[in-house]
Amino acid sequence: MKWSLKLGKLLGIDVYVHFTFLLLLAFLGFYYWRATQNVDAALRGVAFIVALFGCVVLHELGHALMAGRYGIKTRDITLLPIGGIARLEKMPENPLQELWVALAGPAVNVVIAAVLLVGLAATGGFTPLEEISATGGAFWQRLMVLNIVLVAFNLLPAFPMDGGRVLRARLAMRLGRRRATAIAANVGQGMAILFGIIGFFYNPFLIFIGIFVYLGAQAEAGMVEMQSALGDPSTVHSLPPKLSTRSL
Ligand SMILES: [Zn+2]
Repeated sequence: MKWSLKLGKLLGIDVYVHFTFLLLLAFLGFYYWRATQNVDAALRGVAFIVALFGCVVLHELGHALMAGRYGIKTRDITLLPIGGIARLEKMPENPLQELWVALAGPAVNVVIAAVLLVGLAATGGFTPLEEISATGGAFWQRLMVLNIVLVAFNLLPAFPMDGGRVLRARLAMRLGRRRATAIAANVGQGMAILFGIIGFFYNPFLIFIGIFVYLGAQAEAGMVEMQSALGDPSTVHSLPPKLSTRSL
């Protein structure tokens, strides 16, 4: 992706960070500093975002490793302010394989949350919920909660988000890939509009996610339509691969 900085390689996959993500970190650091007038608190706030996006990278690696089991390579992973994108060469056309690839990302966050839960329980590190704020206290506990939020949010049936891919895969088992994609894309675009409306009132990030989901659903539905029209699977693979999975 343009305007991205390479962070390094994980399990043979290049990991990039988009410059808008770095802007977000700088903005949040400044925002926390303004709110608390305390450099330490601001740095802790930024460290938390970095830790959270570390979990997002692991989530994307989950998708990438599962795709790798089916012989599909991952071009790269990029971090954006709205989440991470693992660019797979393609999505498996076998619905059961797509189901496993889609579930592998959220499964990583379930494991992270479980590890943090066990760690917190073992060390007696739990803080009463009312003492937790966006910028202070209970670092690991907040990280645990946000990993659970990541699982729940990504499993919403907002194709092409993970939950939407699960929906398409399940529909494809009964209706075929073409109809399944059309239905999942419609549901996804409905969800995207809902994100936009909720985002307008509560969180502008949700508006960007809504736009991303809406356009993503449109692009993939169009591509599957075209593949069906061409009818020849050997032609399909010469199309520019645009498929990717994204997650917050
Ligand atoms: Zn995902």
